Amino acid sequence: MRVLVTGGAGFIGANLCRELAAHPRVAEVVAFDDLTTGSERNLDGVEARLVVGSILDRPAIDAAVAEADVVVHLAARPSVPRSVADPVRSHLVNATGTVHVLEACRRRDTPIIAASSSSVYGPTRILPKHEELPTRPQSPYAASKLAAESAVLAYGATYGLPVLALRFFNVYGPLQSVGHAYAAVIPTFADAALRGQPVHIHGDGRQTRDFTYVGSVARLLTDAAVRRVTSPTPVNLAFGTRTSLLELLERIRELAGRPVEVVFDPARPGDVRDSQADSGRLEELFPDHRPVPLDAGLAETVSWYERQIASARR
Ligand code: NAD
Repeated sequence: MRVLVTGGAGFIGANLCRELAAHPRVAEVVAFDDLTTGSERNLDGVEARLVVGSILDRPAIDAAVAEADVVVHLAARPSVPRSVADPVRSHLVNATGTVHVLEACRRRDTPIIAASSSSVYGPTRILPKHEELPTRPQSPYAASKLAAESAVLAYGATYGLPVLALRFFNVYGPLQSVGHAYAAVIPTFADAALRGQPVHIHGDGRQTRDFTYVGSVARLLTDAAVRRVTSPTPVNLAFGTRTSLLELLERIRELAGRPVEVVFDPARPGDVRDSQADSGRLEELFPDHRPVPLDAGLAETVSWYERQIASARR
């Protein structure tokens, strides 16, 4: 089986390429990426071919999809603050780009698994968030991901395309980028704690998230690709845990083995207060999947950042 991963040089994409390449039923892995936030280095040591191109370039994505038996579509302009700064660009890449990938898949009836986002639920106070809840995107990013997810499901309904739209919650782990204004919370905390710098928290730190280790996501996506799992409705990809940022910081502080100063900054526009997935539908589709627990995933992650910092110093 040949698998094309759009966004394959990114954080989740490169972890996925590694997992796919190790699977006995996968013969070839191709990462298709324009390297805007991803990097070639993420694929070091991974048996995957990198095709540098944009999903906005229709001939390029058509040619890449033509050689694949299944597509995992992760390419996007992630992050809420980036979309607040440039909503048109986020819409273009995330929504229009997804329709380009879908058109390429439709031509050859190629199954597609696509990354949606828990941000589509918006500020609902109902927890856990189950897929039947109304969606209320609160940021241009969330709106663009909902548009993309809707397009994926509409291609399933209209053209009978085999589709699976997974609403990722907060994914963390090795390769997640750090050191820029749009970095996610775990890399930011881990990096600051390891360097002995203050940690900045937006809001009071009591906001909660359902964190999923990237190794669990990569394994689940690989299984979905190999077994050709499909669903006519969106599916949460998280396991129903709920951790506040203050709790998270405490665990990272223990792993880093040093005290960390906390600075509380104003809450960011578009950020969601609480997040926790109902994982019932996911468990129906992937009954054998056992996710990596938070403590084990954080230990792997902190030790990965530690190695990055050490090798940058050498
Ligand atoms: P990432 O930025 O590391 O990966 C996105 C990849 O897409 C990058 O490698 C980037 O270079 C590539 N890309 C961007 N524009 C492109 C284009 N026009 N053509 C080709 N490639 C392009 O981010 P990630 O965290 O790995 O996110 C992967 C997917 O998961 C995204 O769709 C994101 O919306 C979704 N997601 C991630 C999380 C999370 O917690 N990380 C949560 C919800 C949803």
